[in-house]
Amino acid sequence: MPEKAAPAECRASEELSAILAAQKQAFLAASEPSLAERRRDLARLSGAVNARAEDLASAMNADFGNRSQHESYVAELYTTLSGIRHISRHLGAWMKTERRGVNRVFFPARAEVRARPLGVAGVISPWNYPFYLAMMPVATALAAGNRVMLKPSEFAPATAALMAEILSGLFPPEKVYSACGGPEVGAAFSKLAFDVLLFTGSTGVGRRIMAAASLNLTPVILELGGKSPAIVGPTANLFHAASRIALGKAFNAGQTCVAPDYALVPAESLETFAGAVAAAWRKSFPTLAGNPDYTAIINERHYARLSGLLDDALRKGGRIIPVNAANEKLDPARRKMAPTLVLNASPDMALMQEEIFGPILPVIPYGALSEASAFVNARPRPLALYVFDEDQSKVSEVLSRTLSGGVTVNDVMLHVAQDDLPFGGVGESGMGLYHGREGFDAFSHKQAVFFQKTPNAQGLLRPPYQANLMKILKILLRWG
Ligand code: NAD
Repeated sequence: MPEKAAPAECRASEELSAILAAQKQAFLAASEPSLAERRRDLARLSGAVNARAEDLASAMNADFGNRSQHESYVAELYTTLSGIRHISRHLGAWMKTERRGVNRVFFPARAEVRARPLGVAGVISPWNYPFYLAMMPVATALAAGNRVMLKPSEFAPATAALMAEILSGLFPPEKVYSACGGPEVGAAFSKLAFDVLLFTGSTGVGRRIMAAASLNLTPVILELGGKSPAIVGPTANLFHAASRIALGKAFNAGQTCVAPDYALVPAESLETFAGAVAAAWRKSFPTLAGNPDYTAIINERHYARLSGLLDDALRKGGRIIPVNAANEKLDPARRKMAPTLVLNASPDMALMQEEIFGPILPVIPYGALSEASAFVNARPRPLALYVFDEDQSKVSEVLSRTLSGGVTVNDVMLHVAQDDLPFGGVGESGMGLYHGREGFDAFSHKQAVFFQKTPNAQGLLRPPYQANLMKILKILLRWG
């Protein structure tokens, strides 16, 4: 099956520059958008998501070959609407000028911090949650008073085309613009002199984005990937942990940046845990091939990459356990890949070196809990970390010894769904935060403003300095 081509009407880089120039000009010409205007923009977006919900779910289904409609509703549409509602509700408080203290020698002056829009925000988004990961940054940038240019992934062309249609129906291009295209357009896009650029995607491409943005000194928010571990503690509820990790790995067929990448399990519980994961998968997916609840792999390239990871693991001594309850023959052309356990996984296997991003779960045994944290710490800092244990002190031990972008305890992925929590990676899993308040801050400049008042004491500090001024300065030093 050929790879899906990007729609033909993609813009050349000169046109992108012209649109950026038009957005910058419009930004400078208009006054800063009021709270009411920003709320109106957000309401327009929410209205369109509701009105086009079915079309959006269908577009995502077309892009994946099969995308669970329930997953699209929960993880793309509901999350976007809930995120926008949260922003809209709190925006007035976030926009408020904040009064700050003034050093006593400057009395009676006044100081404050204003949240100012930066100007034009660039957003580059991936294919795995093609709507949510494009629309949340767009909504957040608008809420902070910016204009936005979006470049969605070429691997979800139906969703990209529908988003472009929706956005162009809601906003003029000098306010919100959606480009389309693949790496070449992405590379040209990332070289544009945005006032801020949010990129969501792989760590490798993230490095290129940061290099390109550095030429314009454009600040970047990098939402990257990596291997997010699930640590099953020695006193965890093993069956609960297995069922939640199984769900996290199968949701969107594991094509989730915060999916549990691999599980670290006490050596003595390994077989029981693996059996419970397999049982959970069999229960959720009695069939796979025609099952609308089980999402397909996005394209041939990723299907081949995942098959390659399994071949490599098998060659290197891995025990590969595909869980295909009805023993169906799965046609590779339809890209449904059975959820698969890998036991005896070793660090030299490719699946322990790169982000899996598919329905494959290596299970790694450990002895003492400190070994599990050490295993995590020997690798780049993950985007998410999951720890399962009934004993709070064991949870605390893991949390204090490791550092990840975010954490969910006794479940997977749900920290991302909390609108009031910041979201972002650390180290190789990214930099900068968005969602909620942190998102508003990421797309704003915190401007320091000092208001001088008269009369004031500053007139005294002027050459020629008077002899008695030194006496006052010495008293001030002692005063602190
Ligand atoms: P990707 O890095 O291949 O592509 C992301 C976007 O960058 C796409 O729009 C693509 O067209 C564009 N792009 C590709 N090459 C480019 C270049 N040279 N210059 C500029 N832009 C370029 O990522 P993907 O395959 O779409 O998504 C999967 C990756 O994204 C995984 O690593 C996953 O963990 C990560 N991800 C992270 C988050 C997060 O929030 N942290 C969310 C989803 C996915």
